[in-house]
Amino acid sequence: NRPPRLHRDFMMTRACSLQNAPIRVMQWNILAQALGEGKDGFVRCPMEALNWSERKYLILEEILTYRPDVLCLQEVDHYFDTFQPVLASLGYQSSFCPKPCSPCLEVHNNNGPDGCALFFNRRRFQLLHTSHLRLSAMLLKTNQVAIVATLRCRFTGRVFCVAVTHLKARSGWEVFRSAQGAHLLQQLCELTTQSHPEMDDENRTRVGETEDGIPLVVCGDFNAEPSEEVYRRFMTSPLGLDSAYKCLSEDGNTEPPYTTWKIRPSGESCSTLDYIWYSERAFQVDAVLKIPSEEQIGPDRLPSYHYPSDHLSLVCDLRFSQQPHRFM
Ligand code: NDP
Ligand code: CA
Repeated sequence: NRPPRLHRDFMMTRACSLQNAPIRVMQWNILAQALGEGKDGFVRCPMEALNWSERKYLILEEILTYRPDVLCLQEVDHYFDTFQPVLASLGYQSSFCPKPCSPCLEVHNNNGPDGCALFFNRRRFQLLHTSHLRLSAMLLKTNQVAIVATLRCRFTGRVFCVAVTHLKARSGWEVFRSAQGAHLLQQLCELTTQSHPEMDDENRTRVGETEDGIPLVVCGDFNAEPSEEVYRRFMTSPLGLDSAYKCLSEDGNTEPPYTTWKIRPSGESCSTLDYIWYSERAFQVDAVLKIPSEEQIGPDRLPSYHYPSDHLSLVCDLRFSQQPHRFM
């Protein structure tokens, strides 16, 4: 048994460096292992490319390549045996919310239910509050969930909320998705304007809570094209959200052409379903990770030996637009 490798930290030479650093956010539906092997029917993806023993390293490699400060995942069915322990050893604190009735449980030799998971850099952020939501649609409970966490930056004292969700899939469910989105927005409204007892008056002033509510980031596989009602709901909500990936387009106002691309027996499906929403008044988008070209993705689409999920990861750098009042 060798002793652990020497742990060495960087010393920051400029006090402002961590205060000014943008928050890197990653959104990714990683494809549940049970669904990929047992339900999806990705007919152009070799079964060997879906072996968990290798695929898990491709997923972890993608995450560690970009080292997000905040990581939002959907279709996580290997939280307790893989992502929680591995990412904890790399400095992430996390929370997992399984779907109440996950379709993974119908697959032979499944590894438990899939769900949403939220990870954050615990050296940079302190967790103030976590909520696990079961989404409703028209007052009825649904099989979809969300996690909402309130984080405080340890270096600046600034507070923001981050949410992760995975809305109902498939066509024919557009009204249902919109209702789930409405419920989530209403919950987010409550969570970003209610008083946090953990927060003292000074912090309340810093986040401007009394005026506009806590700044918000919402990541999700919405299973909805930008033409759907749930997208419009998010775009026009009183929370003042905008979608980070519009920054990639030439006009700055168009979502990317696809965030998922796969071939099932029913045919090819290339669509934009995944989003990173942010409070427009609080953040500016410093960077977005580009979408791979059709040529890079290849003729058999996703997943593949080169890429472990049918959804692409979205990564953006969000910077607080102005210094909090106390520091001005
Ligand atoms: P959803 O419609 O939200 O889809 C669940 C998953 O299926 C998503 O992760 C979705 O991936 C994926 N999916 C989407 N389209 C397809 C497709 N064409 N082929 C294969 N997979 C696809 O389902 P719900 O969570 O609302 O649950 C409904 C399912 O749950 C039923 O299909 C049923 O099998 C199962 N169920 C299980 C019960 C139980 O006791 N365990 C009870 C009741 C239902 P993505 O988001 O990437 O598109
Ligand atoms: Ca899926």
